[in-house]
Amino acid sequence: MNRVLLDLQRLDTQTLALSRAKKALDDATSARARRDETQNLLDAARAEERGVNSTRGLREGELEATEQKIARQKSRLMNASNSGDVAALERDLVGLSHARGELDETILELMDEGDSLSKRIGQLEAELAQNESEVARIEAEFKKKSAELDGQIAAKRAGRPALATQLSPVESEKYETSFKKFAGLGVSEAQRGVCSACGTTLSRDFLRDAVSEAFPQCESCGRLIFVGAS
Ligand SMILES: [Zn+2]
Repeated sequence: MNRVLLDLQRLDTQTLALSRAKKALDDATSARARRDETQNLLDAARAEERGVNSTRGLREGELEATEQKIARQKSRLMNASNSGDVAALERDLVGLSHARGELDETILELMDEGDSLSKRIGQLEAELAQNESEVARIEAEFKKKSAELDGQIAAKRAGRPALATQLSPVESEKYETSFKKFAGLGVSEAQRGVCSACGTTLSRDFLRDAVSEAFPQCESCGRLIFVGAS
């Protein structure tokens, strides 16, 4: 068998391995997904913080109005002479004071909630910054390694015609057919009497005859097999 068939196979195997290595590179898809997830959490926390602050603003307004009302009713109480008016004002003041107490409590709770949200936002901002730099790092690495592999693949492809033109049309056809049939590894080599592709130990008779055959095929896997003279 023409040894160039084996040389071409080696070249194509190297090119395939480089292409696979390129496909296996991390293109930062999962890092970007992590970053987007953090961004979503941060957006949600910021929206929640805005909601809490706006509710707190409302409750503070209500508290101020309640305090003004209390001051007003207290001054009315001081000037009241009618016992019915006094009793009504006193009842009103009890209710107002109760409302003030509840508003105070609500505002304190909202302040606590605001504090923990602000802390959480700080953590998420730090996490986002970390995610961003991770994305940038992986993307830069991907770009660099892709370019390296592209260069190596191009070099292998450039060397192919010099080999391919050394094959006869029949040899080319046999090569292509076996390449397709065996998913990119159509030509093996007998190494110390063993098929380099399937690992089968080849018979003595086969090895002896194959040396002079144009297209010997491995007894076991059926690939074209190069058997050098021993
Ligand atoms: Zn084999």
